[in-house]
Amino acid sequence: LNLLLIGSGGREHALAFALAKSPLCAKLFIAPGNPGTAQHGENRPDLPVGDHAAVVAFCRENGIGLVVVGPEAPLVAGLVDDLQAAGIRAFGPTRAAAQLEGSKGFTKDLCAEHDIPTAAYARFTALEPALAYLAACGAPIVVKADGLAAGKGVTVAETPEAAEAAVRAILDGSEGAALVIEECLFGEEASFFALCDGTRAIPIGTAQDHKRAYDGDKGPNTGGMGAYSPAAILTPALEQEVMARIIAPTLAGMKARGTPFAGILYAGLMLTAEGPKLIEYNTRFGDPEAQVLMPRLTGDLVPALLAAAEGDLSGVAIGYDDARVALTVVLAAEGYPGPVTKGSTIRGVAPVTAGDVLVFQAGTRQDGERLVADGGRVLAVTALGASVREAKARAYEAVARIDWPEGFCRRDIGDRAVAREEA
Ligand code: ATP
Repeated sequence: LNLLLIGSGGREHALAFALAKSPLCAKLFIAPGNPGTAQHGENRPDLPVGDHAAVVAFCRENGIGLVVVGPEAPLVAGLVDDLQAAGIRAFGPTRAAAQLEGSKGFTKDLCAEHDIPTAAYARFTALEPALAYLAACGAPIVVKADGLAAGKGVTVAETPEAAEAAVRAILDGSEGAALVIEECLFGEEASFFALCDGTRAIPIGTAQDHKRAYDGDKGPNTGGMGAYSPAAILTPALEQEVMARIIAPTLAGMKARGTPFAGILYAGLMLTAEGPKLIEYNTRFGDPEAQVLMPRLTGDLVPALLAAAEGDLSGVAIGYDDARVALTVVLAAEGYPGPVTKGSTIRGVAPVTAGDVLVFQAGTRQDGERLVADGGRVLAVTALGASVREAKARAYEAVARIDWPEGFCRRDIGDRAVAREEA
């Protein structure tokens, strides 16, 4: 089977690593890819992935039996719809199903309809009713941009004044501005990943990430500075609860709407005193979560993704290794998540990649013999171990051997999990 993987980040390097291992994989193309994915297949930076007709033509010319979409943007742009319409198998949700990630209001309404545990909420497009609702609720409260105004982010407002400022910033009179105001939840956050075929779901791992740039959860928000899997706080009993009360009714609800969800359903959860509640859905693997999930997979990823794309996961054997912990440390360019300088040389990546250590590349570029930094998040150093402590020690030992003075990383990835493990 020839495969085409779409994307160029650390997540796609991790996916390429898992796909290329499959005995079913004859040839793997990655568009555009990065120097890391080139270790597992053929990069095609020349294929414009935003041009769906060009992607269809490429698939026909190269006998592609399955397209795997890594990032969210092509999903929301309807790449999977266009491939399927052309008779090409593609793994990932359709544009309509990707609304679970693309529209917070859509997901909240689905939760309300199907009694899926989530924060109480209301949606607004006009200022006055939104302010009246805020006044009635008090603080703390959470304000989220929705619809066309998305990208203005999420404010967890500690005071009524901060909440009002956030509401005004979103409903500023621009066309299509919309927001969700929701109850503030308290607890620990964890992520749950399920492989879905439109009807059924198979859990494929849990993780916890580190969003802030600096140690102690300080500094600006980032795409993610590290992660580990499993999230031990999600016990088997809680995982069952998540499957039964959150994932299953979501799939049933999406199917009932005529937009069945096939792909990766990534649930961001708050583990509250009343049980797990859904904060948000993503409709693809996380980055850097894929860098800890892929190395723990048991079973072959290719037939599993193929079966999901074909709508029938029954009979698929895929899961994760319960005895192994994976932890990843992201190395970012100095200045990230702000502007960074590109072009510095990275040395020592190949020698540390061995045994239980895997270095996944993201913002890198090959310049002759030199590997150079070419983005904000540059490498994700993943290690496996029997415990979080062991995985963490191995990961940081590898980090220390990578020679890249222009980079930085957090030093406390997994600390909370180590403390829990040893409590
Ligand atoms: P991302 O995709 O980067 O996680 P997003 O913009 O899609 O962010 P959410 O995931 O909905 O936004 O929220 C971002 C963060 O805000 C959450 O990870 C969580 O820490 C916090 N948050 C969101 N909703 C709530 C809530 N109801 N109660 C408490 N905290 C919340």
